Amino acid sequence: MERLREIEKPLLKWYRQNKRALPWRVEKDPYEIWISEIMCQQTRVEVVKDYFERFLEALPTVRDLAECPEERLMKLWEGLGYYNRVRNMQKAAQQVMGLYGGQLPADYEALKGLKGIGDYTAGAIAAIAYGIPVPAVDGNVLRVVSRVLESREDIARQSVRRQIGQKIQAVMPTDCPGDYDQALMELGALICLPGAQAKCGQCPLKGICLAAAHGTAAKLPVKTRSKPRRIEERTVLVIQDGDCVAIRKRAAKGLLAGLYELPNVKGHLKEEETLSWVREMGLGPLRIRPLGEAKHIFSHVEWRMRGYQIRVQQLDERRQGDMIFARAEEVQEKYAIPSAFDAFIRKG
Ligand code: SF4
Repeated sequence: MERLREIEKPLLKWYRQNKRALPWRVEKDPYEIWISEIMCQQTRVEVVKDYFERFLEALPTVRDLAECPEERLMKLWEGLGYYNRVRNMQKAAQQVMGLYGGQLPADYEALKGLKGIGDYTAGAIAAIAYGIPVPAVDGNVLRVVSRVLESREDIARQSVRRQIGQKIQAVMPTDCPGDYDQALMELGALICLPGAQAKCGQCPLKGICLAAAHGTAAKLPVKTRSKPRRIEERTVLVIQDGDCVAIRKRAAKGLLAGLYELPNVKGHLKEEETLSWVREMGLGPLRIRPLGEAKHIFSHVEWRMRGYQIRVQQLDERRQGDMIFARAEEVQEKYAIPSAFDAFIRKG
């Protein structure tokens, strides 16, 4: 524990001199911290900046988020993936409206009672926005602490993550917990990089860190692999009639629930099979052009996709079965289409 206590001064000094200028670090507003933390969970900070500003401009308050129509919300989140996160954020915003008058509670346990807010996000909001001394343990923090202590405990285990959180809580300063949490995260993001990329030579903790002293950083932290992703083959169709493209709404439950997609079917179809499928949909195909292959990785599934562009006869009706034919500008403005389809949208 003493070793961990020693990191405070050099860590905070380094953070104050080297932290990145991020839009959500300016005001320390709980709503902004919340949104940024959810956005940053799977996406690089540089990419999040633009999304964050656009989202805040469209939905500047908890009330705006609570009342936002679903399609607009999905559109604002388009490209960030993990759409359940934004759905949960909206449910939590509704809870905040009902229970706390629109202000996120300044209480760690109460924050954890909100939909989609776990230990990490509650810790970040509580410490950064409200100055409550609680840890915010993300992957970066787990890596830094495991290396400083040269711990070989498996960070995939919830109990180990909890123990690391308790160790941080025992040594973190009470006068600037937000800076301390962010400093640990920032060090993991900029210096204590995964695998062999750790920049120990530039690290303010070099003289304290056991992994640096013993040359074990590249092997730490220990993390057992979760089970491999299921591979799913799909054939994706860019069906166009003149200036419109066919899209359809996905089911209300399951992967990418409620979003829009390019029509697609399971398996890798050949051209003839694809044309038969299009005819079965009641459309008259005129031409088919292969668009090559692409893959997209979700948390538990990997799609290996084969694409075709299909030109069909001009339609009188803008709807055909469950398909909607929409102009490119309409798709751009109105319908949230997950990035899994980007490769074919670009080529189509
Ligand atoms: S000295 Fe190296 S391993 Fe230790 S915390 Fe710094 S970057 Fe990570």
